[in-house]
This record gives sequence, C-alpha cells and structure tokens, in this order.
Amino acid sequence: MEIPFHKPYITDDEITAVTGCLRSGWLTMGHKTAEFEKQFREYIGCGNAVSVNSGTAALHLALLAAGIGKGDEVILPAMTFAAGAEVVNYLNAVPVLVDIERETRLMDVSAIEEKITGRTRAVMPMHYGGQPCDMEEIIEIAEAHNLMVIEDAAHSLPSLYRGDKVGAIGNLTCFSFYATKTLTTGEGGMVTTDNDGFARRMTTLRLHGISRDPWKRQNSDAPWRYDVTETGYKYNTTDIASAMGLEQLKKLEAMWEMRKRIAESYNDAFSNMDEVALYRVKEDRETSWYLYPVTLNLEMLSISRDRFIVEMLERGIQLSVHFIPLYRFSCYESVFDPASYVNSEWAFERSVSLPIFPGMAGEEVNYVIDNMRDILKSSRK
Ligand SMILES: *Cc1c(COP(=O)(O)O)cnc(C)c1O
Repeated sequence: MEIPFHKPYITDDEITAVTGCLRSGWLTMGHKTAEFEKQFREYIGCGNAVSVNSGTAALHLALLAAGIGKGDEVILPAMTFAAGAEVVNYLNAVPVLVDIERETRLMDVSAIEEKITGRTRAVMPMHYGGQPCDMEEIIEIAEAHNLMVIEDAAHSLPSLYRGDKVGAIGNLTCFSFYATKTLTTGEGGMVTTDNDGFARRMTTLRLHGISRDPWKRQNSDAPWRYDVTETGYKYNTTDIASAMGLEQLKKLEAMWEMRKRIAESYNDAFSNMDEVALYRVKEDRETSWYLYPVTLNLEMLSISRDRFIVEMLERGIQLSVHFIPLYRFSCYESVFDPASYVNSEWAFERSVSLPIFPGMAGEEVNYVIDNMRDILKSSRK
C-alpha cells in the first residue's frame, strides 16, 4: 500500500465551481472573492475577513496593519514554519524566539515575559497542528505590555479555544489555504479582525495600495479611476481560488469530523504503546487535527527518528516532521542561540507527523498503525 502524507479532499463540487468561474469570464478577484470573505466571516463570527493569495501574505499584511516597523520586536515560537520569522524580517523588524512546551509543542507562555523589551510590539502565537495556544495568558501579557496579538492560524481551521473559534480571539488572525491545509484553494490566505481600520488598510495594501478593487471600479461612473494611497503589494487572490474556497468551506465541518475519526483511531492504537507518546491536547480546547504528531520514546528504541521515517517509507508510508526549529537554519545561525531552546530541540529530535487527511480510508489508517507497531516493537533496545 502507498500512503501519501497528505491528499487534498477535492470532489466534483470544487471542479464544477472552478470551471463555472472559468466560463464566467471573470477570473481575478471579484464577487466570488467578496462572497468567500462574507461566508468566512460568518463562519468564524468576526467583523472582517480579508482574502489574500497566501498565508504568508496574510501574516505580512497583519503585521503591517498592526503598525510593526523597523527595529520593532515580535515574539514567536522557535518551532514554527519559516514564514513566521520571514514576515517579521520583511519589515526590518526583529524576530524574537521563545521555547515551546514539550507535550503540546505550543509556545511556552511562561517564557514570554522575560523576552519583552522596550522595543517589543507584538506576540505571534502559532496554533501548532491546530491546537490553540494559551490565549487567555497571551492576551493578559499583551495587554499588560501594550502588545498586538497576531495569530498564525495556518493550522487551526476550525479550532476552538474555550468554545470560541480561532479567528475571533486575537487582534488579527492569519489563515493559510495552501494545498495541504485543512481548507485549500491551492494557494491562498485570509486575515480576520474585528478592527475595521486594520481591514481597510489590508484591503488597500493587498492590491498595490489601490483604494478600490477592480470589481467595484467597474460599477462606478468613472470605472477607470483609482488612487494609490501608499506603496502596496500584489497579494490579491483570484475568483478561481475563491470559488474553490466557497465549496471547501461548505464541507469544512465534515472534513473536520473525518480528521477527528482518524485521530481517535490513532489515539486508541498508540495509547497503550510505550514506544511512542501521544500528542497532548489541553482540556479547554479542540484541535483541527491538521497534524497528528507523536513523540518517539527514543530512550527505549535502538533506532533514531530519521531511521524510523526511512523504514516507514520503505513500507510505502510517507511521514513528515513539524517543524525544523528556526534556529537550525543556516540563515539564522548567527541570530539565535540553539542552547536557549531545549524543549524545541527535544521535540524536534523525536517528533514525527503521521498521515491524516479527510478521505483517508480505514484500511490505510490501520496499515499505518500496524507498520508503526511492527517497526517500533522490533526496534526496542
Ligand atoms: C503553511 C504555513 C504558513 C504559510 O502559509 P502559506 O499559505 O504557505 O504562505 C505559515 N505558518 C505556518 C505555521 C504554516 O504551517
């Protein structure tokens, strides 16, 4: 059996919607995008949703809207995707890394305050694998130090924190619709915020700093006229992507149920195996199960994490690792000191992410479980 790490859940609904858009003659950002933003906003229960062409663009515009600039410090977890520090660098601001908790891989909130200086302007929690961070504590710290809370919610659609949907909690929340994410438009992203001023600024910045989008322009008395109010970016999405997003949004909860069922099967299978520790989800929240990470108990095994991944691949199963901590990349070698991130290092050495995607068949889940058990049992010291 061949099991990919991920397979997008695309049916005739998306195909029909995309071909409908192609036939309509309107391809770029227009009323399908406006409708996607509206539906997304209603689903999350927030004031504004601004659509862009990637999660990275969403983070970049959110930081700009929050007023982050040269020399400002932004606090984020050491174990996150490269985009997190990258967008801070776009603004000539300074990424400041905090360590994570071992069992949840979430930003360790008790390590935030010691990183705050006179230049700190924002904290950027990342909801690892879909599990929301300790938002109450983070917001409390942010309020005490006058910091913006910009959430990297690339994994957390849908995710709940004390009953609230991620996207309706911090000042600005950034989603990704990259091909592997829980809702995909191929490439895409969205920022949600209750702040109308932030939303207006991001709407302008996503299209060259132009004050009105092309669809609205068509309907005014002087359709050719527009203003450029500041230097912007080419971050707008297309109606092709939004047509797909609208279909994906309709089945988001159903796709979540499928992920939950797979996670339950894995939990049941691994809960009584001491070669591997289950990923911990805190009681007051729900993960999207974008990732199903486990921790190998290396102390008990004669093989490394890397060797385990090779052996699983030999049996046709693709695994992944989330994430290579930022301080391990050559471009950050002289910037961050690895010795400060012992939990990130601990988790990185023993983390593997198992395949989990809607449409994954029960027999595929069982094949992963059986092979994992087989390899781990025969690799005991
Ligand atoms: C996927 C991802 C992003 C970036 O999203 P893109 O849409 O690929 O730009 C940002 N942060 C995290 C944690 C991600 O996993």
